[in-house]
Amino acid sequence: FDSASRTFHSLRPYVPLPPPDRPLSFAAYAFSLLPSPLPSHPAIVNAATGDTISFVDFITQVRSLAAALRSEVGLAKGHVVFILAPPSLDIPALYLAILSIGAVISAANPASSPAELARLVSLSDPHIAFAASQDAAKLPSHVATVLLDSPRFRSFLDAEAGDLVEEEVEQSDVAVIQYSSGTTGMVKAAALSHLNFIAMVAGFHSLRKPAGGEEVTLLGAPLFHSMGFFFLMKGLALGETTVVMGGRGGVKEMIQAAERYRATAMTASPPVVVAMARSLESVGLTALEYVTCGGAALPEAAAMRFMRRFPHIQIRQGYGSTEAGGISRMICKEECHRMRSVGRLSQHVEAMLVDNATGETLSIGKTGELWLRGPSIMLGYVGNKQANANTFDARGWLKTGDLCYFDEDGFLYVVDRLKELIKYKAYQVPPAELEHLLQYLPGVADAAVASYPDEEAGQIPMALIVRQPNSKLTEVEVMNFIAKQVAPYKKIRKVVFTNKIPKTPSGKISRAELRNHPVLKSSRL
Ligand code: AMP
Repeated sequence: FDSASRTFHSLRPYVPLPPPDRPLSFAAYAFSLLPSPLPSHPAIVNAATGDTISFVDFITQVRSLAAALRSEVGLAKGHVVFILAPPSLDIPALYLAILSIGAVISAANPASSPAELARLVSLSDPHIAFAASQDAAKLPSHVATVLLDSPRFRSFLDAEAGDLVEEEVEQSDVAVIQYSSGTTGMVKAAALSHLNFIAMVAGFHSLRKPAGGEEVTLLGAPLFHSMGFFFLMKGLALGETTVVMGGRGGVKEMIQAAERYRATAMTASPPVVVAMARSLESVGLTALEYVTCGGAALPEAAAMRFMRRFPHIQIRQGYGSTEAGGISRMICKEECHRMRSVGRLSQHVEAMLVDNATGETLSIGKTGELWLRGPSIMLGYVGNKQANANTFDARGWLKTGDLCYFDEDGFLYVVDRLKELIKYKAYQVPPAELEHLLQYLPGVADAAVASYPDEEAGQIPMALIVRQPNSKLTEVEVMNFIAKQVAPYKKIRKVVFTNKIPKTPSGKISRAELRNHPVLKSSRL
């Protein structure tokens, strides 16, 4: 903690980054880190099919795809590519091919409804979409779509490979658009740069295992989510084997895959850790050294239970967000003992804690909103000046909407979530989106959506409804109305009828008062 600037700095050894004015795509950076000769173990394994691809073949595929994306699809620098598909061996190659030509990846959750996808597409304005055939029909018809299981796409993979780094891609160019509601309101398109990923991977590269201690990482997080996406990129750049779940993401399948492929590391959300601790699978997971857990708060009791079941496996908590990337993490056994903490600040991340009532910056041990600065922070929300103005302060600090503190050893603790966001199994559920839909339900006079604590999912979306006079609207009708329109993870799972929704003087829902609603008093992150 630097008391003059009131700023918390990372305690990890500093890692130099490439000179900022040097043109460099994340793809070129990742490939430059790979050893020569290339590793002989697989780059990617698809646990659902058992298919694998070597680094040599993977790089050839990336080059073929990059050439075909230009010549067959007409993709150019800055064009956005929308991707809607379960994980497979093709997705990582497509990701890196897009990045290598300076185009922009925008991957969405295949569970999204057509209306949700229409909104995402209107935010990111893609040039083209790549989709699995079972998901493509949900995309708006005006979006030109290449089916990933079509002969056309297969021909792209086999196209004559071009040279890789032809396009002048600046590190500050947009690389990825990810969808997030941030601290308030509806879903937004967060633009992340090549530098964001270069900086994060550089941090992992500096702390990687010595040669010979090869990592096999099983990705328990989906590839469209910031956590799954990043760990895939990191695994490829560091020459490790990454196991993807191929759309069969149940915990039982994950455990079996971890055992079968002798995974040494795994990324998982808290509900996966909870389910692993409870699972009756008779596996030893003897190769598994640690589970990186993030995306939402991990209850201490769940961590303890996991450690009793698998005493040799460390739970390394990490904390990050779509907008800020990896903010903090644990990197070794000693750090894992601070069970309620989310680790220490990652390299390059600067943090400040701000008392929202007074605007005062706080020091060690004091709780306030976490503000961040550094090369892994997003460029901003695409086409949304208002959201950018609300999210960044004038000096470029990003406001996380999370209430945190640091202890004297630099460990970060997430105490509560100030922002509206609900996290159902670590998936984002923006209350504003469901409140908007509820306006159209006959019988509803007013409605608000908030999180309600749940042991298995962490939080569930709960609707507070004021019925119109004489309305006989039932809980089930409310739940069904929403379920028909949204991805399954956004369903309303609890309904409470009430007399009044608390409002601010300007007529907005008062989230602060809502949190003190009698049914919600126990609802905390
Ligand atoms: P997302 O953009 O979907 O990754 O969501 C980011 C938000 O998830 C953060 O701002 C936190 O509110 C929450 N979050 C992520 N990781 C953790 C963690 N380890 N502990 C508590 N909350 C977390």
